[in-house]
Amino acid sequence: MRGISLVVSQGTVAFFAVIDCHIVIEVGIRENKTFIYLFQFIVAVHSLDDHLAALHCRWEDYRGSGGFDQFIEFTLALNSLAERLACLRLPGLVRQCEALESTALGLFGDADTHPIVEKSMLAMGRQIDGLLGAIACARRPNIKAHVEAPHARDIEWIKSRSVWMIAPANSRWAKGVAEQLSFYGFRVHQSRWGARLPDVEDPVAVLFLPATDSDGSESIGRVALKQVARVRARCPASQLFYIGVPRTLDTMVTLMRAGIDITVQRDDRMAALLSRILDLVQTQEQERYRVLIVEDSRVAVTKIQRALSQHDIDSLAVADPIQLFEKLDKYRPDLILMDMYMPGCNGVEATRALRQMPAYQATPIVYLSSETDVGLQVEALRLGGDQFLTKPFNPVLLAATVKTTVERHREMLRGSHHDGLTGLLNHTAVKSALDGRVSALPPDGRISVAMIDIDHFKSVNDTYGHPVGDQVIRSLAWLLKGRLRATDVIGRYGGEEFLVVTPDTSLTETHTVLDWIRGSFGNLPHAHLGGLFRTTFSAGVATYPAYRSGTELIQAADDALLQAKRLGRNRVVLA
Ligand code: GH3
Ligand code: MG
Ligand code: MG
Ligand code: MG
Repeated sequence: MRGISLVVSQGTVAFFAVIDCHIVIEVGIRENKTFIYLFQFIVAVHSLDDHLAALHCRWEDYRGSGGFDQFIEFTLALNSLAERLACLRLPGLVRQCEALESTALGLFGDADTHPIVEKSMLAMGRQIDGLLGAIACARRPNIKAHVEAPHARDIEWIKSRSVWMIAPANSRWAKGVAEQLSFYGFRVHQSRWGARLPDVEDPVAVLFLPATDSDGSESIGRVALKQVARVRARCPASQLFYIGVPRTLDTMVTLMRAGIDITVQRDDRMAALLSRILDLVQTQEQERYRVLIVEDSRVAVTKIQRALSQHDIDSLAVADPIQLFEKLDKYRPDLILMDMYMPGCNGVEATRALRQMPAYQATPIVYLSSETDVGLQVEALRLGGDQFLTKPFNPVLLAATVKTTVERHREMLRGSHHDGLTGLLNHTAVKSALDGRVSALPPDGRISVAMIDIDHFKSVNDTYGHPVGDQVIRSLAWLLKGRLRATDVIGRYGGEEFLVVTPDTSLTETHTVLDWIRGSFGNLPHAHLGGLFRTTFSAGVATYPAYRSGTELIQAADDALLQAKRLGRNRVVLA
């Protein structure tokens, strides 16, 4: 059983998620209907500029020449922009971009239908201006510090996150949620239904909390939908949540049409709701997809690499399959694009050989070949390939196939790389992520590693029981996820030990932020059957280049942690 408890302490209402703890949960279910811990993250937006510039140039090229090739380039640029916006989790803008894409696809035609007629050209231009304008409006100034973090004010990597809540006046639920969100580092702006929208920077998320009818059911009327549509138009980049939605398809569709991204059911179980919102946080900015191209034709390689790089996919080409194994281990591709006919050995033979190596048994392999004999294609798939694309290929389709295949594969790997209790990377995965980051560092690169360990945790278990202990572990995981950047690596290194890797930071910056998190964690009340308790953690920090490998960094951070424990715990010690 999982749930939420409502605890009143010193005049304030505080909510605590208590998972696997039966009695506390009953109290929770009586006291609150729905509850949300909302985390969001903002990923770096810099490469968006490249996409915007590319789109602008491609469109200007096409307007100048009116050629079909230029139109294709333009649609490719549009498609990359849509994907970039999706990566940045800007659903409203993605929609707008996709609308533009479908207009462009409607005008695609062939070499004879270009240039398109003047009227379509103008309409298209207006749509592009509209999109670029919406993107410009959606970009928020970078807020450098969080109100709760006076010592961290100068550190750029504190996330800027604000959340709006549209709720009935005096909603106790809303008040509690606002307090929780503030604790996890959000600025919360609460407004009533129908009131003017706050005149502040756009939020990462907007929570709509309907008024409750006297019979306890929530109604979604025209006024509510209008309000949603207004917010959608005003905040194209935000995630909109509507909470307390009846489980009927037409209501959900109506809300989504009005602009809601995520509907949360009225009778959703608390645990499902929590894990769903935690999933949002876990969507860290992803590493670029890596594709290994095994292909003997230089012309084909150039075309493939061009199509992939248009979509922000990294690639490496191997002209001779004999070099395959050597390149594989260095490059660690997410997917292999395999030609069928090459000198030395053919693609099917190379695939069969790869499938005999445990490390590459599951790596997706897509054939890209001019072979049109279906019998041979089927045979190639039977012998270890995953998909078959034929040459000449459509660049958009190739990139889409690569992306969806890699996404599914990474999703599948997630299960084996993440810890079940916290959703963080597990021991092996976090260590290998650290090694990867260290080996990719430029000569003047910086990276810090922190080892965090909860103090006297054995006595937490002994006093309050294992399930309460689990929740303490989880709340520290949430705090780290909520407070650190999307680019930081966070893993559960052991039972109550966490490993944090922060790229591009100095020892003192890492110390400042960890110390801030340490202070917050120490103030976080944990619920147990008889009341509340608090606990602390100790941490040790080490940086590159003082320690030069993943193993040395971990060892040094661990030694510093030991020192922190010796000095009395509840502190952060630098190696
Ligand atoms: P110190 O301040 O020196 O770190 O003391 P400690 O009690 O935290 O240190 P110790 O390493 O002796 O104890 C860690 C305890 O964490 C022992 C183990 O039972 C508990 N533990 C490990 N994994 C889990 C888990 O997943 N859930 C819970 N509830 N407890 C766990
Ligand atoms: Mg060939
Ligand atoms: Mg320990
Ligand atoms: Mg401990």
